[in-house]
Amino acid sequence: MLIERCPFRSLRGIGGLVSLLVSCGTWAEPPRLVVVIAVDQMRADYVDLFAEHYVGGLRRLRDEGAVFTEGHQDHALTWTAPGHATIATGVFPSRHGIVANDFWDRVAQQPVGAVADPATALVGVVGRTGSSPFRLLRLGLGDWLKAQSPGSKVASVSLKDRAAIPLAGKSPDVVYWYDLQTGRFVTSDYYLSALPDWVTAFNAAGFVDRYHGSQWTKLLPAPVYDDSPWRELAGRDPSQYSLFPHALGTPGQLPGRRYYANFRSSPYADLVTLEFAMGLVEHEQLGRDDAPDLLFIGLSAADYIGHRFGPYSHEIHDQFLRLDDYLGDFLAYLDEYVGADRYVVALSADHGALPIPERLADLGIDAARIHPNELLRFIAPVLEAAQARGDLSTKPVLEYRSGPVFRFSGAAPSAADLDALQRAVAARLLEHPQVAAAYTYNDQLRGDVDDEAWADSFGRSFHPDRAPDVTVKLREYQLLREVATGTDHGSPYRYDTHVPIIFFGAGVAAGRHTDRVRTADIAPTLASILGIAVPDDLHGHDLYPFFWYRYGN
Ligand SMILES: [Zn+2]
Repeated sequence: MLIERCPFRSLRGIGGLVSLLVSCGTWAEPPRLVVVIAVDQMRADYVDLFAEHYVGGLRRLRDEGAVFTEGHQDHALTWTAPGHATIATGVFPSRHGIVANDFWDRVAQQPVGAVADPATALVGVVGRTGSSPFRLLRLGLGDWLKAQSPGSKVASVSLKDRAAIPLAGKSPDVVYWYDLQTGRFVTSDYYLSALPDWVTAFNAAGFVDRYHGSQWTKLLPAPVYDDSPWRELAGRDPSQYSLFPHALGTPGQLPGRRYYANFRSSPYADLVTLEFAMGLVEHEQLGRDDAPDLLFIGLSAADYIGHRFGPYSHEIHDQFLRLDDYLGDFLAYLDEYVGADRYVVALSADHGALPIPERLADLGIDAARIHPNELLRFIAPVLEAAQARGDLSTKPVLEYRSGPVFRFSGAAPSAADLDALQRAVAARLLEHPQVAAAYTYNDQLRGDVDDEAWADSFGRSFHPDRAPDVTVKLREYQLLREVATGTDHGSPYRYDTHVPIIFFGAGVAAGRHTDRVRTADIAPTLASILGIAVPDDLHGHDLYPFFWYRYGN
């Protein structure tokens, strides 16, 4: 009998079909552990760009995994919290509600953080406000699993709360993130009332402090890095070509807040996160029984490094060579502790990044940097004129935050005034040479956006209760950034949306798939592997049919 698709899902629980199961492939049970690794700001091209020297985990994922070469975060506002929430929920920000890292709460009329929760307290340090998923409007993969398999555990860790929390969904067992003030892994009382002893011991064991006074040097000999296609500069000064070695803290001093904050932009921050993740596997007993467990890992160092030095820097090159090494050890650990045929890994990213615009300009590309204050100054005359005409009931305050979006706070003009103000500001912005489009809130609400090519993308980032008054689409390769060096993300363009999507492990057939797929597909695909049902209204689709293992492949 020819079996088109590995049928363990449909056959599970059905007796007497052993021969069918055997003929299907290497395994007939769901994995004991699914690990979702989200590498912050990992561009899709890093999978191949640095591959010549991958010998560890990225090598295994690339060669033995199902590699989707056209994976996209398919929404316009490509920020960290939305990207992670989309991976875990299978829906776009328009539905899961995490539209940006910080957004304007139109109901409360105040700016809010994606995960900051004033009703919670941090656990692990004293007297600080905590974070929770209370603004996440959807259940995620972890919630689906726990609802259908009460014995399953869901755990999450990242340097960033806005990564670990949206990945984990609404009802995980444990979620931890790195506190940049103290260098400790913490949680909030949304999850736990006290840190478990092993976490306290981990924090006391010096995993972070051991690098204080040391240097980040290149892993491999210098010529390896000179093969990079570009040699990005953090700024315009050629003497900044290579800043290696990077000092970590000041020898002779005790580690302090400055060290703990800067530590995040070293590869060792990802190593410590993975060491913590191994602690989670061991102490939460993940993958130890027949109830499948979920482990989310947000690896954030590449984002801090990429922002400072750019995607084609020696620093990013070295970061991914080291991450390859760290992930090699991590996969070897899972082989040993869970069993090589008992776990599945999905690797993706929350967004990509724009190369340093000055370097693009060197190559003849029409790329440039723009300071947000320039846009604010550019629209100021419109506001002044409107007020002089008496069109505005009160003086609006224009703010820029979390991308090229503007909101009017500190003023409560009438609905008609607000509509007129939005239109006037958007019209003015369109006169700026670096602006391609400007969408008003009211037009987006009505779906009346006169820009066919991009309207859908912005629509997927639009939630009516959580949108600014004007959303700007800069022209391609234009970077909105407050500092004169480094780079950013947040646009709907390919350099920000194109991310790796790789599945690896038990039952996954190696291969490359060039179909255009989306990060919203990851959660339904993993649900399919786990054999659990998903909500009917997901934006994402099950990719498992692309790569399920077939006997004889
Ligand atoms: Zn990010």
